[in-house]
Amino acid sequence: MGRDRVKAVINAVQQRARNGEISPSEVGDEALRALPAGGPRVVINATGVLLHTNLGRAPLSPAALDAIRAAAGSTDVEFELATGRRARRGRAALAALGQAVPDAEAVHVVNNNAAALVLIATALGQGREIVISRGELVEIGDGFRLPELLESTGARLREVGTTNRTSVADYTAAIGPHTGFVLKVHPSNYRIEGFAATPSVRDLAGLGVPLVADIGSGLLTPEPLLPAEPDAATWLREGAGLVTASGDKLLGGPQCGLLLGRADLVDRVRGHPLARALRVDKLTLAALEATLLHTANPTRDGLRADITDLRRRAGALALRLAGAGVKAEAVDTVAAVGGGGAPGVELPSAAVAVAAALAGPLRLGAPAVVGRVEGGRCLLDLRAVPPGQDRDLLAAVVAACS
Ligand SMILES: *Cc1c(COP(=O)(O)O)cnc(C)c1O
Repeated sequence: MGRDRVKAVINAVQQRARNGEISPSEVGDEALRALPAGGPRVVINATGVLLHTNLGRAPLSPAALDAIRAAAGSTDVEFELATGRRARRGRAALAALGQAVPDAEAVHVVNNNAAALVLIATALGQGREIVISRGELVEIGDGFRLPELLESTGARLREVGTTNRTSVADYTAAIGPHTGFVLKVHPSNYRIEGFAATPSVRDLAGLGVPLVADIGSGLLTPEPLLPAEPDAATWLREGAGLVTASGDKLLGGPQCGLLLGRADLVDRVRGHPLARALRVDKLTLAALEATLLHTANPTRDGLRADITDLRRRAGALALRLAGAGVKAEAVDTVAAVGGGGAPGVELPSAAVAVAAALAGPLRLGAPAVVGRVEGGRCLLDLRAVPPGQDRDLLAAVVAACS
C-alpha cells in the first residue's frame, strides 16, 4: 500500500475522532484496523532496544543483503562447480563459521537456536536424561519454555540444584548410566543475584559426559562492551563439547542456530534424520557467510556507537524538526541490548523527544517508526537506528505531524 493511501486512511480515522465518533486514544487502533493487512512493512527501530524480537531482531548488513540477492536464483549451495559434483550443503558458510571460531573442530547450522537444542536433545538425549540446573530452566519469550521444548523430544530432564545455587556435586550426583548430556544454559534474559552460585563451564567439562552449552546471544569471541556475555570460543576452550547460539542476536546475522564443537558430537547431531527438517535455506546460508566475513553490521555498529555521535545526531534531528515547525528536543536516554542478550546492561544513548500523541501516527507511517513512550513523551532513540536512516526518520516525523 502506497504512502498516500496510508495517509488517506489515517486522515479518515482522525476525522472520525474530530467528529467525536471515537475517542482520540482509539485513533491508533482504529487506523490499524482500517489498514489492510499486508506484506512486511519497513520499520525504523527507534525503541532503543538494539535487538527487538518483535521487529525482526538483527537488521542485516549491506554485504548480507548483496549475498542474499546473489543466492536468490540458482546457486552452488550444494554443488561443486570445479568438479560438477554434489558438495556439502552450505560449505562456504560453514567454513566461514569454522574460521571465525578455530576452537570448534566442527560446525553445523540449523533454523534457529531452539532448533539446535531440539536436534541435540533428540540426537544425544532421546530416551536418556539431560542434566540441567534449576536456575537455568528458561522461558525464552512468547511462552516458549526451554524445558518443555527439550522434553518434547522424548528426553527426560534431570533437574539439579536450586533456583539460586547449584554445585558441581549436584551434577555429579545426578550423572549416571542414563545421562545423555549436561546442559548449561546462559540466563540471557534474566539475572539471579545475591546468594547465588553456579559452576563454570570448566567445572562441568570434566564430568565424563558431553557438556552442551547454550550461549544464546551468538557472540563468537569476547565483546569488551559486554563482559558478562559468554562467547563460543571461550566456552569451547573451557571444555564445552557443543556450544549453541542464535545467528540473529549479537552476531548481527540472519535467523539461524549455530552449533559448534567436538567433531564426533557435531557428526552425530547433523547425521540424525531430524537434521533435514531443521536445515536452513540458501538465503540464510548466504547471509550468514557474508555476516561472518564482513564484521561490520548494524547490530555491532549500534552496540559500539559512540554516545557523542548519538547526541550529535539527536541534536541535528531536533534542530531540523524545529525548523519544520515540529516541537522536538534532544535528550539523553538509556538503551538496551534486548532480544535475549545482556540483561541489565544499560547502553547510554540519545533520543529525539516528540509529543506522545505522535507515537500512533508514527507507527502507521511509511516507513513505520516505532519509538517508546516514556514520561509523557515519545522518545525516538537513535542507538538502534543506523545513521543512514536519519533522513527517513526526519521525514517520517514531519509526515506524522501533518
Ligand atoms: C534467544 C535464546 C534462545 C532461542 O534462540 P532462537 O534463535 O530464538 O531460537 C535459546 N536460548 C537462549 C539462552 C537464548 O538467549
